[in-house]
Amino acid sequence: MNYTFGPVPSRRLGRSLGIDLVPFKTCTYDCIYCQLGRTTDQTVQRQDYVHWELVIEEIRRKLDTRPDYITLSGSGEPTLCAGLGELIQRIQAIANIPVAVLTNGSLLWRKDVRQELQHADLVVPSLDVGDEARFRYINRPHASLSFDQLIEGLVAFRREYRGAYWLEVLLLAGYTSIESEVKKIAELVRRIAPDRVHLNTVTRPPVESFAEPVPLEQLTRLADLFEPRAEVIADYARDPHESESTASESDILEMLLRRPCSIQDIVAALGLHNNEAIKYVEHLRRQKRVESVVKPRGVYYRALRPEDQPPEDPQG
Ligand code: SF4
Repeated sequence: MNYTFGPVPSRRLGRSLGIDLVPFKTCTYDCIYCQLGRTTDQTVQRQDYVHWELVIEEIRRKLDTRPDYITLSGSGEPTLCAGLGELIQRIQAIANIPVAVLTNGSLLWRKDVRQELQHADLVVPSLDVGDEARFRYINRPHASLSFDQLIEGLVAFRREYRGAYWLEVLLLAGYTSIESEVKKIAELVRRIAPDRVHLNTVTRPPVESFAEPVPLEQLTRLADLFEPRAEVIADYARDPHESESTASESDILEMLLRRPCSIQDIVAALGLHNNEAIKYVEHLRRQKRVESVVKPRGVYYRALRPEDQPPEDPQG
């Protein structure tokens, strides 16, 4: 497994070297707007998911790319990785680069998680909704999590944390973009008192087609309801309704028909984000158009030709 991806250009973080600490779609939520697909392992159990020495070694090898941030994020919820605080300290010991954590914030009610995150230079949690009902509908959290717990965690972390605290609010057309809903969120944001508020919307193909983007003009107007005034960070260059995902998928398939490739090969050749490449490959795998092959140097993917397809089950 490769734990690092990038550096990738990020509007907020400059050139960000991403660190993926949990397996693909291991998350406390299953958001309707997630660009990575359905959550396959929904859990609140923190675990040792990574081999720390390998993570540190990979970061060390990427330091000459001079990233602006080392960012713990990736294809699931990073605070599910046990021992996060020690890992952050070990990264800081080898790199004079600020460490950021992008989290959905769902585990901040836990004291151990808040304490471990104290070591980060920047923490960016999320708050997308203003009440429990919308929390259940939009974030589809693990059954043991409640909205009140989420808010308590966000407020408690603000009291204790000395680093930079930015809050991301992702709004969806029709559900959370109406003024009365945004006012509820803004009221909670006032209580949380982050250093900055970032307003976002869905701009990549979401897991549920009914998760629709809020137009830029509307998002800009809604930014005024926040205190401090929110900054719009949505990347409208990507329209989620364009057939971009199909094009990327067929590009990957063509590449894999020529030779087996790792995710890293696909990322390098097609200029995709690591998470996007994983999402497309997983989709192709579910369609049985691609299979994974474990080789001494890691996992490779190869396209299945019609003659490679498993025979139909005569029992149906
Ligand atoms: S958007 Fe983030 S928090 Fe929501 S399901 Fe996807 S990975 Fe988890």
